Order: sequence, then structure tokens, then C-alpha cells
Amino acid sequence: MTAQNLPSEPEFEQAYKELASTLENSTLFQKKPEFRKALQVVSVPERVVQFRVVWEDDKGNVQINRGFRVQFNSALGPYKGGLRFHPSVNLSILKFLGFEQIFKNALTGLNMGGGKGGSDFDPKGKSDNEIRRFCVSFMTELCKHIGQDTDVPAGDIGVTGREVGFMFGQYKKIRNEWVGVLTGKGQSWGGSLIRPEATGYGVVYYVDHMIKYASGGKESFAGKRVAISGSGNVAQYAALKVIELGGSVISLSDSQGALILSGEEGSFTPEEINQIAAIKVERKQISELASTAAFSSKFKYIAGARPWTNITGRVDVALPSATQNEVSGEEAKALIASGCKFIAEGSNMGSTQEAIDVFEAHREGNQGATAIWYAPGKAANAGGVAVSGLEMAQNSSRVTWTSEEVDTRLKHIMEDCFNNGLATAKEYVPTAEGSLPSLVAGSNIAGFTKVAEAMKDHGDWW
Ligand code: GLU
Repeated sequence: MTAQNLPSEPEFEQAYKELASTLENSTLFQKKPEFRKALQVVSVPERVVQFRVVWEDDKGNVQINRGFRVQFNSALGPYKGGLRFHPSVNLSILKFLGFEQIFKNALTGLNMGGGKGGSDFDPKGKSDNEIRRFCVSFMTELCKHIGQDTDVPAGDIGVTGREVGFMFGQYKKIRNEWVGVLTGKGQSWGGSLIRPEATGYGVVYYVDHMIKYASGGKESFAGKRVAISGSGNVAQYAALKVIELGGSVISLSDSQGALILSGEEGSFTPEEINQIAAIKVERKQISELASTAAFSSKFKYIAGARPWTNITGRVDVALPSATQNEVSGEEAKALIASGCKFIAEGSNMGSTQEAIDVFEAHREGNQGATAIWYAPGKAANAGGVAVSGLEMAQNSSRVTWTSEEVDTRLKHIMEDCFNNGLATAKEYVPTAEGSLPSLVAGSNIAGFTKVAEAMKDHGDWW
């Protein structure tokens, strides 16, 4: 993969190897050897756009950032995927995210290609005016490369409805057209109901199927203790849905530290989650709330830590929902030692390869009540982009569906996504008698096969 003349792209290489190794270890290439060629072709983006973003800060200084859009694959539809604004953003990270997005979008069953973009701009510590000026400059260039039938970005880390609004306004001014070129829009001007909730709700709907399948329909979220990382939109809505289904949320976190229930009983309440959501709108850290009397009497705050090794008491379900590589091999072992049976990623590539190897070994090696089941982000968090796809459908037909209608469709998409990964694993992945099927391998093969077949029809490989 890494030819000598290519720059090192560690995150992209990790995502590529994770997919390729599951294809290699299945019977896919024995049954369809020609798909090896498709893997080579699909691993190179169709196009990468890089550009300069110059904007003015509140002191009148010139600020410069890098802007990117990776238009990875358009076999199934317009490029689709979020924009990430974070100081860590570089081409390796956006290629990994774009690569994941191709197969995730395929798993939704909707007609969307895969793309990702963003900037190394850091929204933390910026004023609202600075954010607006940055978004306007960013879209001044990006608008030349996107369009409702070409490439439809959305949010990701650091890009919320506010940023989508500023970028949408600039696109509309320059191109002089009101079209659904971005998703995650404001709900009074074309955004879909349930889009903010969709990724978090979708993860929980997906895990609900995992729990029911693994327990033969005997168990549900009721009574489950759920460790969540992150405190952005994915973590917040996953937490609220867990509580609605009768589970307990026992941790949340941000880049500065983890907030964990001190005792072995209880849960974050919806009110506490809403308080966290409110400070996140202001781009503040959880530590500000953690030191208040109400929070410090109920939670422990551990600066610089992730939740996984610091939970008090049992964990049943873990939902990494912050960013990539947020569960190490050691943390995976600690989660299993705490009793964790289900791990599903709200984040993209939340687990390192070492962590996936630990989870998968415990799936294959254990049976019944001791089996561990891991679901990768490209399946478990597909609900966000799925509702983006539903937003595109509503925009093109100039209609607005009710919350109930969107939520019902989201539930069906997550169910199909789970069943598709499961059935594909049973078909292609040799598994020890009595073990749960590999959702990571099944989802990879299902997503890859769909895209590879469309590419073949288009003459992209032969
Ligand atoms: N950034 C989200 C993801 O990782 C959503 C992308 C979208 O809605 O286009 O899937």
C-alpha cells in the first residue's frame, strides 16, 4: 500500500488495513478474486481538493488555515460526508474518514458516495464572529467544488448547525441558488427533523439489535450500565436514548478529561446531559461543570483521562463517541474485565486495531454469556449520514417529513444495517461453531461489495 513515493498517512493506512484484512480473512476473494482489483481502485480517492483559507480575527490580523475536500468515491451517488474543523486535521485523517464514509454510506442503502473535508482551524477559543468569518472564507473556495448533485458536505467534529448555516449562506450568495448542498441545516430552512439526534439514536438502535440477537431476545437496554466517551452531539443523543430505553449512562468525556459516576448505582440524568450540551454550545470544557457542587457530589472528574479504565463498578455496554483511536488494546482488555459485552462506535475508527483484535478474539473465543461483540463505526454510526440522505431526499422533493416519519426510517435503516452485516458475515466469514458472527468483517464485506459492483458496472475496473 505505501509505495515509496507516497507520503506516510498513518490514519488512512490504519483504516485501509482494517478493511483489507477483514476481506482477506474471509472467503470473498476466493469466491470473487476479481474484487482484489476493485480494492486497489477504491483505495485511491477520485479527487482531492486542497485550498488556502485566509480570514480576519477579531484583532484585525490575517489568519491562515488549510482547507480540504476528499472526494473519495461517487459510485453510489454524490460524494457525501462531513466537514471536520479541528487543529489535528490533515490529509491522512480526512482520507481515513472519507474511506470509511464510502462503505458506511453504502450500508445505509441510500444513494450516496463517500467524501470528507474540513480544516485545521480550531473553533475552541474563537468568537462567534471569528467562526462566521472563517466559515465564509472556507466556503468561498469550497463552493466551486460542491453541489447538490456533486458533493454534499455536512458537519463532523467542530462543525455544528451554526457553522453549516454560515457556510450555506455563503454558498447561496455566491452560486445564487437555494439547494440542499449541505445537510444538518437549521430545521426552519431545510434541515431534516431528527438529523441532530440521528447518529446517537442510531448507535443505540443498532446496539439494541446486538443485545437482542446475542441474548436470544431475552435482554434489552433496560438495566444496562453504559459507558460513553465524548460529549458532543453523538454522545449527548446516544446518552439520552439509552436513558429513554431504561439503561444507565455512567460516563461522558471531552478532550480534557472524563466525568464518571462515583458510585455503582445511578445514571446521568437528561437534565445533566442538557447542561453539558449547553456548555458545549459555548465551546467550554466539562471541567467547568465538574467542579460545581451538584456535579462533584455525584461524579468524579479525571483530568487527561478517558473513561474506560476508570469506571466504578460494572460496564455492560461501551459506546466510544469522541474521536478516532480512543480505545487502546489495554483499554479494550480493561473494558472486558469490567464485564463489558457490547462495544459499538459512535465515533469513526474509535478503536485502535489492537483494541479490535482484543474484542474479536473474545468474540470468537467465548460463547454464550461471556462473548464480546464489537460493532465498527461504519455500521453503528451510519444513522447520522443516513438521515443526511433523508434530508437530501426531502430537499429535492421540497417536502418536510415529521419527526416520527424520519425516526421510523432511521430505525429501519439501522435494523437493515445490522442484519446486512450479520448475514454477510455468516456467508463469508468462517467462524467457530457457536460464536457470534463478526460484525466488523460482515459490515466491511457488505459495504465493499456493493461499491465494488457499482464501480464495475461503471467501468471503473474490469
Ligand atoms: N460526519 C458524519 C459521519 O461521520 C455525518 C456525515 C454526513 O451527514 O454527511 O458520518
